[in-house]
Amino acid sequence: MTIDNYKFAGKKAIVRVDFNVPLDENGNITDDTRIRGALPTLKKILEEGGALIIMSHMGKPKGKVNPKFSLAQIKDAVAAALGRDVKFAEDCANAADAAAALQPGEVLLLENLRFYAEEEGKPVGIDKEDPAYETAKKEMKESQKAFAKTLASYADCYVNDAFGTAHRKHASTAVIADSFGEDDKMLGYLMEKEVQAVDNILSDIKRPFTAIMGGSKVSTKIGIIENLMDKVDNLILCGGMTYTFAKAQGGKIGLSICEDDKLDLALDIMKKAQEKGVNLVLGTDCIAGDKFSNDANTQVVSAMDIPEGWEGMDAGPATRESFANVIRTAKTILWNGPAGVFEFDNFAGGSKAIAEAIVEATENGAFSLVGGGDSVACVNKFGLADKVSYVSTGGGALLEAIEGKVLPGVAAIKG
Ligand code: AMP
Repeated sequence: MTIDNYKFAGKKAIVRVDFNVPLDENGNITDDTRIRGALPTLKKILEEGGALIIMSHMGKPKGKVNPKFSLAQIKDAVAAALGRDVKFAEDCANAADAAAALQPGEVLLLENLRFYAEEEGKPVGIDKEDPAYETAKKEMKESQKAFAKTLASYADCYVNDAFGTAHRKHASTAVIADSFGEDDKMLGYLMEKEVQAVDNILSDIKRPFTAIMGGSKVSTKIGIIENLMDKVDNLILCGGMTYTFAKAQGGKIGLSICEDDKLDLALDIMKKAQEKGVNLVLGTDCIAGDKFSNDANTQVVSAMDIPEGWEGMDAGPATRESFANVIRTAKTILWNGPAGVFEFDNFAGGSKAIAEAIVEATENGAFSLVGGGDSVACVNKFGLADKVSYVSTGGGALLEAIEGKVLPGVAAIKG
């Protein structure tokens, strides 16, 4: 079923959203992107005369009630965003009466799902090495099913719009879907958009396809890099991870960040790129700093010859130019991970050059997907988020999807 085809009038819809928004020490929301992201789905259901039961997790309360992670803190913000009153169920597993009383157009927000360990379905307080762990795990899987059935019993249909947790097989993101027939479960608009964006990158590829992978560590990106190697024409590697490549090739990297146990892996990636005919683009120069700080002294040096006591902190001018030249001509672009320590303004130039080249390519008809927390922070910082084709809200989920893994949250609905 799709959200556009379902008739919500007179129906109760239970919707899994990702309202895991950042809060300050007084419980005020510091970034409401995730709430705004779910609005098209929530409003569509209400406007059609459906009643809404909203469920989400917040933080990591590890199966225990903890006021610090209570969704009561965001109830008013949700009400303001929807322009309607929002009722609150203090116990998500005992909300049957509140759900039954809901009238068309009314909204019920359930308390944090992760106050119950059943949501994640992992036994708590027992070590994996403990001989009793396997039994505890089996028991927990059964309780998880029961918990999911309870949630399902509140509603006539189920909508999953929480892309941020789509890579988790949790009660509310996947198991609950078993309680609904094909015609009563669907993805929300945000999920549909995310899935479509990944599909554009993985199956509907217009060439040349250029992926830009950056960030601090090659080890956390290896799965994606390997999967992309079979798909891309150009693979730009940038950011802290490139010093591992420089050192692996015999370069001097001074104090630059480096994974010494990944030197062979770096050489292997270079070899694979050559075998597969992928144009691997690495930086030739960098901006080095004499300390890890925005006001470090800087100099432009060869990426293979960084002086003792200095560290590579951003892409140099020649590197920016060569990256931009490759990006500008691309027709499909994926960007994940910054080209430098972009949090420091003085080392954000390399990431900005990448973002600007992506915008230029997008204006010339390329499809560009920017994803993963830090690249999203980059395009936001440079005010360019609305000039790329799609900015993904999902960190881990996006990366797993691009690695080619099946997302349980999507599979539970689409099969
Ligand atoms: P990741 O979490 O692996 O995507 O990496 C993102 C982080 O990498 C950001 O916080 C950047 O500041 C950091 N980063 C990027 N380039 C460098 C660099 N040359 N040295 C140290 N950290 C870097």
